[in-house]
Amino acid sequence: MAKRRILIVEDEAMLRRIVRDAVESAGHYVTTAEDGEEALRLFRAEQPHLVIADIMLPKLDGFEMVRAMREEGGNTQYLFLSARSTAEDVVEGFRVGGNDYLRKPFAINELMARVEALLMRLGDDADSEIYTIGRYTLDTKAQTLTIDAETRHLSTKESAILATLAQNADSVVSSRSLLMEIWGDDSYYNLRSMNVFISKLRSYLSKDKSIDIRAIRGVGYKLVITK
Ligand code: CA
Repeated sequence: MAKRRILIVEDEAMLRRIVRDAVESAGHYVTTAEDGEEALRLFRAEQPHLVIADIMLPKLDGFEMVRAMREEGGNTQYLFLSARSTAEDVVEGFRVGGNDYLRKPFAINELMARVEALLMRLGDDADSEIYTIGRYTLDTKAQTLTIDAETRHLSTKESAILATLAQNADSVVSSRSLLMEIWGDDSYYNLRSMNVFISKLRSYLSKDKSIDIRAIRGVGYKLVITK
């Protein structure tokens, strides 16, 4: 199974960690949020393949959150994970756009079986990795970067570097991890080459002034989108 992006929204720290560990162990890329608003922001940035959502959450409850995510569109599956266990709650979960509903307490292997079943439904469409970067859209399958009606074709490395920065938006990505992931070695020669790629990406993204690929001296790069 391909590596998928999964967003876990759970305000209870212990449970968040347990679910995160299980999903990561299955080989997926995980981000977590502690409340509905943070989750909505991460959803927009990362376009996850699956959202595992608690219902009783601070700021924005799980039903409202999933409803808002559904309105944004995209190819995402939703799994509710909640202590709210009446038939009405379950019905409401499906009504707002949930694909599955698991009552707490639950067995972790049952959760993982449901996660994999939901990810199977995505089919090949999910192999297209779409990232929203400010006003730009990066499609790593087509290797295109689009703004308004203008589409630029990227090289494999350009696309991979930008996708990695976008996955980790607002966090520093070390030069070393970028080099190891994309070039397969972190020689000084490749570091110089990567810096050239970063300069090119900056110029490609220059139509949206809110986007900045910041160099963090001696460490790496950070993609920042100012709101
Ligand atoms: Ca909760």
